[in-house]
Amino acid sequence: MSLDINTLKRPCFCCEGEDGSHIAVGSWSIAGIGKLDLTIRICSRCGAVLQDPVLNEKAMEFYYKNYSNYTNPGRGGLPSDDTLETDFRQISIIQKFLNPSRVFEIGCATGNLLSKLKKVGWDVDGCDPSKTAADIAAKLWGINIQIGLFDDLSLDMQSTDLVIISHVLEHIFKPLSTLKRVHNILSSEGHLLVEVPCLTNPEKWPNGYFTFEHINIFSKNILINCLLNAGFEPIYIDVKKDHSPYPVILILAKKSNHHSWQESKIDSPAQVKILIDEYLKSESSEWDRVDKLLINELKGFDKVIIWGGGIHTSQLFENTKALSNKKVISIIDSDPQKKGLNIFGIKIDSPDSIFLKEKNVAVVISSHAFENEIYDILSGGENLNAKIIRLYQRKS
Ligand SMILES: [Zn+2]
Repeated sequence: MSLDINTLKRPCFCCEGEDGSHIAVGSWSIAGIGKLDLTIRICSRCGAVLQDPVLNEKAMEFYYKNYSNYTNPGRGGLPSDDTLETDFRQISIIQKFLNPSRVFEIGCATGNLLSKLKKVGWDVDGCDPSKTAADIAAKLWGINIQIGLFDDLSLDMQSTDLVIISHVLEHIFKPLSTLKRVHNILSSEGHLLVEVPCLTNPEKWPNGYFTFEHINIFSKNILINCLLNAGFEPIYIDVKKDHSPYPVILILAKKSNHHSWQESKIDSPAQVKILIDEYLKSESSEWDRVDKLLINELKGFDKVIIWGGGIHTSQLFENTKALSNKKVISIIDSDPQKKGLNIFGIKIDSPDSIFLKEKNVAVVISSHAFENEIYDILSGGENLNAKIIRLYQRKS
């Protein structure tokens, strides 16, 4: 059975407007899905940025259930440094404003944040579409999370006091209806903690910022307006411009009985367009830099291994020429769910399949977020002869 990967038109996730300017941002081969053209639209009514057309909901759900990469396979389910930083930041806000009671996390992955809240006295529950993630949460922390999409679960009204939805709203088709559902399951004095990537400071966005997984891009104004519309009143707002790999916004909001829409809190589509054009220009020169670096580093190497079976690898093939006359012998990914899939026809294999003892092989680390971590794993190996190439040299 082949997967239907049709794309569909969609209304604005914030104001339901259907017009605006469309910008093509890439054409990628996604492991487990296939080749996709990506287009974003700037809503002419409210200035929100969204993928439109977008991959159909069924195919997206299939992708998250089978290949979602939030289970930290390379670390046995344990969190990355970036995840630890985010958890720490969110817990300190929760502890500053709220006393322990009942918490429900939507898209809780392997339950790392919940495990820490449990330790400080919270009664924890959560959901995630990935069964692999749920199994790890049970094994590592003894937390039984519900497997499935939040919108499909049956949850009682007013059954929790805090809902956490971190780096999830940018992935879902109707964030407003999800927020309204959150409103229903919260007690009358309940709170919502939300964090998403923030459309600000494009000079801090990495190349490949517009990815097929992020179908809604929130600015501060747009996120506030969505929250107000769903019946929440923000009590704490923090835009982290220096957050890596891109700026994020965190809001703690309390449940109110008021649903509103602030005309003063929308973005000018023309200003948003300037911001995105500026980014696309600098992104293109960043890919040129990566291409030149690769051409240089791969001199004398015919055989190349790419480490990373994610979206970055699709982007790398699409945006550089350096690999076109090399033999890419395999793509390596530590996520067992990806084994056997392919990107642009090249098979994804597991780390134990490669021979780093060979002298004439170069390994390209194809990741922003995990570059240092992968480098540490590779360079610590015995009998290493292969050349390891880092594209970003990110400071940890
Ligand atoms: Zn809109």
